[in-house]
Amino acid sequence: MPKALIIGGGVAGPATALFLQKAGWNAEVFEARPAPTAHGGLFLNVATNGLTVLDLLGLRDRLVALGHRCPYMEMWSGRDRLLGTVPNGPAGEPERGSVVVRRDELHAVLRDAMTEQGVPTTWGARLERIEEHADGVTAHFADGTSASGDILIGCDGVGSITRRWIDPAAPEPLYSGLLSVGGFSRVPGLPPTPGVQRMIFGARGFFGYLVRDDGEVYWFANPTSPELDRDRLRAISDDDWLAELRELHADDPFPVPQILAAATTVGAYPIYDLPHVPHWHRGRVVAVGDAVHATSPNAGQGASLALEDAATLARLLRDSATHERAFSVYERTRRPRAEEVVKYSRAIGRQKSTSGSRVAVAMRDLMLPLFLRNATQNTRNNHLYNHRVAWDDTTALPA
Ligand SMILES: Cc1cc2nc3c(=O)[nH]c(=O)nc-3n(C[C@H](O)[C@H](O)[C@H](O)COP(=O)(O)OP(=O)(O)OC[C@H]3O[C@@H](n4cnc5c(N)ncnc54)[C@H](O)[C@@H]3O)c2cc1C
Repeated sequence: MPKALIIGGGVAGPATALFLQKAGWNAEVFEARPAPTAHGGLFLNVATNGLTVLDLLGLRDRLVALGHRCPYMEMWSGRDRLLGTVPNGPAGEPERGSVVVRRDELHAVLRDAMTEQGVPTTWGARLERIEEHADGVTAHFADGTSASGDILIGCDGVGSITRRWIDPAAPEPLYSGLLSVGGFSRVPGLPPTPGVQRMIFGARGFFGYLVRDDGEVYWFANPTSPELDRDRLRAISDDDWLAELRELHADDPFPVPQILAAATTVGAYPIYDLPHVPHWHRGRVVAVGDAVHATSPNAGQGASLALEDAATLARLLRDSATHERAFSVYERTRRPRAEEVVKYSRAIGRQKSTSGSRVAVAMRDLMLPLFLRNATQNTRNNHLYNHRVAWDDTTALPA
C-alpha cells in the first residue's frame, strides 16, 4: 500500500487521513502540538457543505449532536434594530443548516475516528524540513526524528512550511486589520437563541453571540488592531482584554454588555487570509486547507473548505494512475471555489471594520438593510452550501 505523510492534525490533516484510508492508502499524521488537549481555539461554524463531507465519513451526526444548530444568522444594528436574517445554509432548508461547535469538539470527533480506524498520529512532531528523493519523500522534524513515505500532504495551516517548500516565493498571509477575541460565558436568565447566531454591527465594533439550550453563551468580538503576533496577543491578560471590550461595547444593546460583564476568560486570534497561492503542489508534495487558501472566518467556511479539499484529494489519489495527475487535477478543481470564498469572506470583513466615524456607521446602518432585504430567501450562496465532493464517482481519471 502506498504511504502518505500528513503534516498537521487540525481539521484538514485528520480528514485527509481518514479519506485516504478509505481510498486504500496508508496514512500517518504528524502534529506539532505536544498533545491533543493543548490546542486552544474557541468555536466555529461548520457549514452545510462541511457537514456533507463529514457525512461521507459517518461523522456528521456525531458532530451535530454536540453543536448548536444554526440555520440562520440575525444581523442587528448597534441601536437594537434587526437589519435582516441571513440563511446559514441553503435558503429555505433550515433542516440542512450549519452548526456551531467548539473547536475542540470538532477535533475530538476527527481524532476519535482516527483512533477507531487505526490511523497513527505522532504528537510533538514539528516539521522542519522536507527532502524529496527519486522513490519517496522524507519529513524531518524539530526533535531530530524523521519519517518517509511516497507522498507528503501539508495540512499545516496558515503558517505552512509545506507551502514555502512547494514555492519559496509563495505569498505570506495578509493581515485583515481585525482580531477575533471571544470566549464562553453564562448570563443568568438569558434565553437560548435556537437556530440562530446573532451578529451586532455596533458603533465601535462587531460582536457575535449565541446562547445554547443549556444557557452557555458563545461570544466573539472583532476589534480593529495593528498586527500583533500570537505571542504578543497571549501576553495581554484576560482582564485587560475584557476591560477593553467592555468599554468598546458599552453602548451596544442588551445583552452585549451583560455577556461581557459575565465573561472571565478570552482567547484572541489575529485574522489572516491567503487570496492567491500560485502553486499548491510540487513533486511528491501537496498542500491542503489553510496552507494554500486560508480564509478569514467571516463567511464561516474555512474548516468546510479544508474538509472538501481532503475528500477531493483522496478521491483523486484513489482514481488516478499517478500522484502527479491527482495533484494537478486537485489544484485545478479546488482553486476557483477556494479563492471565491476567500474573496467573499474578505468583503464581509470590510463591513465589520469601523473607522469610529459616526457618519460611516450611520451610512452602514442605512445601507445594510437594503443589502439584507429578502435575505432569508436569498439563494445566492446556495452553491457554497450545496457543494458535494464526487466521492462516490469511482471513474478512473485518464493518465
Ligand atoms: C478566530 C478564528 C475563527 C474561525 N472561525 C471559523 C468558522 O466559524 N468556521 C470555519 O469554517 N472556519 C473558521 N476559521 C478558519 C478555520 O479555523 C480554518 O480554516 C481551519 O482550521 C483550517 O484547517 P487546517 O487543518 O487547514 O488548518 P488548522 O486547523 O490551522 O490546522 C493546522 C495544524 O497544523 C499544525 N502544524 C502547523 N505547523 C506544523 C508543523 N510545522 N509541523 C507539524 N504540524 C504543524 C498546527 O498545530 C495545527 O494543528 C476560523 C479561524 C480563526 C482564526
